[in-house]
Amino acid sequence: MGKYAGRMRDHTTDQSDQSDQSDRSGLRGDCERCFGLCCVALPFAASADFAIDKQAGTPCPNLRGDHRCGIHAELRPRGFTGCTVYDCFGAGQKVSQLTFGGQDWRTGSREHARRMFDVFPVVRQLHELLWYLTEALTLPAARPVHADLRRTLEKTEALTRRTPEELGALDVGAHRQEVNVLLLRTSELARAATGGSKKKNRRGADLMGARLQGADLRGASLRGAYLIAADLTGADLRDADLIGADLRDTDLTDADLTGAFFLTQPQLNAARGGPGTRLPGSVTRPAHWTARL
Ligand code: SF4
Repeated sequence: MGKYAGRMRDHTTDQSDQSDQSDRSGLRGDCERCFGLCCVALPFAASADFAIDKQAGTPCPNLRGDHRCGIHAELRPRGFTGCTVYDCFGAGQKVSQLTFGGQDWRTGSREHARRMFDVFPVVRQLHELLWYLTEALTLPAARPVHADLRRTLEKTEALTRRTPEELGALDVGAHRQEVNVLLLRTSELARAATGGSKKKNRRGADLMGARLQGADLRGASLRGAYLIAADLTGADLRDADLIGADLRDTDLTDADLTGAFFLTQPQLNAARGGPGTRLPGSVTRPAHWTARL
């Protein structure tokens, strides 16, 4: 969902929330330097998030010739909420400008386009891992594993710089597993330092629609938890691990997420919240939270 394609730009605008803990400038979508890859490479299934079906490798009919979204200002009312949630973690500009040297899929051969669309999701996964690893290095309690984190971050960064052929053959799942072991250890250290206890381990829990207003989830592990449409208004989520938690339509109004880690912008964009939601500095307040107040 390319340039101004909404998936990235229009939902992240309250910069007052941002107090960068480290340099993640390359880990945020820069649609200006991308050839609209997410609007072409990825498939959609018609649903509450997308108004239409679209196959991978086929340009969205709303994508204009200049790689801008033709309905950018109306994505939500037109049924493309999913586009306002997505972020490529900077993979779009990396693949467009580095991996393929600035050659647009529109002007290259069909084979060039196909390879570009194949490589994009691989680099997107690697960039998501870079996001987590970079954040892990900002957590003082994770100091015992900082050396391993740095090594793994450098290795992951090096992978993103491989050739299209090498990236196409990469077993990104295996690399993800390797990183995950380290992120788990990071989480244990970080949560132990803030009082997160075993009884707050909600890893992978089915909490869909759960009523958790004002819940004490400080230092909890909510890794991969299903919190779809859960009510977390006023909940204490300080220093919680939110990696992979499904926050679609989760109500975070007045919740406190200060110090929560491994939270990504796409997760937050999919949730509901308001001006009273307290956020970690790594993410920005979604524009649509205030737009509908
Ligand atoms: S509607 Fe189409 S062109 Fe617009 S952001 Fe979504 S995928 Fe991209």
